[in-house]
Amino acid sequence: MSTYSRLPIEFERGEGAYLWSSLGERYLDALSGIAVCGLGHAHPAVTRAICEQAGKLVHCSNLYGIPLQEKLAAALTRLSGMERSFFCNSGAEANEAAIKLARRYGHDRDIDAPSIIVTENSFHGRTMATLTATGNRRVQAGFEPLLPGFVRVPYNDLAAMRKVAETTPGIVAVLVEPIQGEGGIQIPDRDYLTGIRRLCDEQQWLMMLDEVQTGMGRTGRWFACQHEALIPDVITVAKSLGNGIPIGACLAHGAAAGVLQPGSHGSTFGGNPLASHTALAVIETIEQGNYLQRAAELGTSLLDDFRSRLSGARGIVDIRGQGLMLGIELDRPCPELVSMALEKNILINVTAGKVVRLLPPLVISDEQAGEIALTVSDLILEFLQAS
Ligand SMILES: *Cc1c(COP(=O)(O)O)cnc(C)c1O
Repeated sequence: MSTYSRLPIEFERGEGAYLWSSLGERYLDALSGIAVCGLGHAHPAVTRAICEQAGKLVHCSNLYGIPLQEKLAAALTRLSGMERSFFCNSGAEANEAAIKLARRYGHDRDIDAPSIIVTENSFHGRTMATLTATGNRRVQAGFEPLLPGFVRVPYNDLAAMRKVAETTPGIVAVLVEPIQGEGGIQIPDRDYLTGIRRLCDEQQWLMMLDEVQTGMGRTGRWFACQHEALIPDVITVAKSLGNGIPIGACLAHGAAAGVLQPGSHGSTFGGNPLASHTALAVIETIEQGNYLQRAAELGTSLLDDFRSRLSGARGIVDIRGQGLMLGIELDRPCPELVSMALEKNILINVTAGKVVRLLPPLVISDEQAGEIALTVSDLILEFLQAS
């Protein structure tokens, strides 16, 4: 079905931050399959893990013990400070699990019609519950009736959330991205997440963070919430967890960790041996390669580079980022920049209409980062002059 308007190019092969088209041309990937291939393409350790496990056992069902899944759960809970993990196959499914968990948490406390606070401009996925949670009319249009049980507030607005606490009964949780990805790399004020944590503590709400795009090292920490001193109740993760092998997880802590019991939720594929073994290799590679520090350092230098090349240029609204999650906001829609970059053999993305989004793999070299900054800055200046 034509659910995507695709660019006129096909890729056949990848290595690190490079992709080769079916015509044999090389491209520098500054998008990583939308924050999926954090370790780049065909990373040897990931390839080895996939091949090893494919030759041993791909799938056996969650009806049986899966030691690799348990090992992955132990690794993820260690890195996130969470206690339990539910495995699925995508970001939407991870959020779907979080939404179900929050509703069940409410029912366990005799709240018959539990509601979850979500934000404007957010993105949580394309299933019915997650598109209802999503703060973008274009994602929802034509799929009504939407689900009940969501209350929307502006992003980065603690006062609005407090107000809901005073006026709306039945709230059980807050679901929010620590940095909005699809929404245009929107970074909230420093005290936003801490404020949500405090409010959730006061109200006995679950603080649920959608780290599907920000998680697994992209922002320079394993999870973006770790830039603050707080522990959420639920973290969802997917995208780069399997470096391209589909896997997602809903991680939970404290009271949230015990909510889902046998029979209350499930997934046929979720956390199968192939996906679990691959994700374990991803984690081990990130740890051994010191890629968190690398993402933080490279992100800072890329940001500096873009700022020195673009600051002051007419048409640039903002240049922002955390780690290797960067956004350059223009004062006008700029979807053309994607094709212009493609012609220069660089893969970038434009989101929220006016924001050039860069999500390069954590494995890029200084030279590759420099090339991205130079080429993309020149293209932006060229575009601003011509439009
Ligand atoms: C991509 C994304 C999702 C949806 O993930 P899928 O794997 O496409 O279902 C959810 N939340 C955020 C923040 C995302 O970036």
